[in-house]
Amino acid sequence: MNPDRPAWMEGPPARCEALPQMQHSAKRLVLLGAPGVGKGTQAALLRERLGACHLSTGDVFRSAGSRPESAQTPAIREALAYIRRGELVPDATVLEMVCERKVCLHCRGGFILDGFPRTVGQAESLKKLMHDEGLSLTAVINYDLPAHEIVQRLAGRRTCSQCKAVYNLTERPPKVADRCDLCHAPLFQRDDDRPQAIRVRLDTYERSTAPLIDFYRELGFLVPVPAVGSPEEIYARTLALLPLNTAQPSA
Ligand code: AMP
Repeated sequence: MNPDRPAWMEGPPARCEALPQMQHSAKRLVLLGAPGVGKGTQAALLRERLGACHLSTGDVFRSAGSRPESAQTPAIREALAYIRRGELVPDATVLEMVCERKVCLHCRGGFILDGFPRTVGQAESLKKLMHDEGLSLTAVINYDLPAHEIVQRLAGRRTCSQCKAVYNLTERPPKVADRCDLCHAPLFQRDDDRPQAIRVRLDTYERSTAPLIDFYRELGFLVPVPAVGSPEEIYARTLALLPLNTAQPSA
């Protein structure tokens, strides 16, 4: 639903079109898991089938980075330098960006936060923000995969330069080399999926993001999901483990 997500991708004053009334109570999810574990793919499936909006902080940074340099704010230019090195953008920059978009937390279809929070500081801030907005999370899904499989997935990942569809050279190759199956635009490898950046990202994940698993377990939100198998298998497992797992959006 609302795949272009103007309110999220562009920030205020952009607004999304009104969503249809949902028959189920909206799901408000956080996706956790190391980079390359397949969070983006699962987020796309959850968005498509539950009608929840995909709120990815990485997508906002990438979209800002694809604008001409003259249209980028100093904060964005600084954030992009961290991203190119595979490091985390400072909490203050990320939090400002999320708070500017807090209307998205009220999305009628619910939301799937992907890539945020990434530090305990960000998780504390999200907890406060949700409380202040009178909202609560449905669940925090933690996708789990052995490290060697993560490295293989990241190194083989290719993204469509136009529609952002994600491929994997070994597990899900495009039909024509380096071209998107859906829109035929060229595929590219993200700077942060190159070997040096992958190592930094996995170290960063262990140091900064893995502690979130304990944080959310203690709050009673954690739903661990093994991320092995095809995207459809992982999706079915996710849905089976979610609270209120039978819900479907209305037409
Ligand atoms: P992703 O697409 O979620 O893997 O994000 C790509 C990159 O954007 C990450 O490697 C970070 O450099 C940066 N980034 C995205 N979200 C956050 C966040 N919540 N906190 C810090 N950095 C972030």
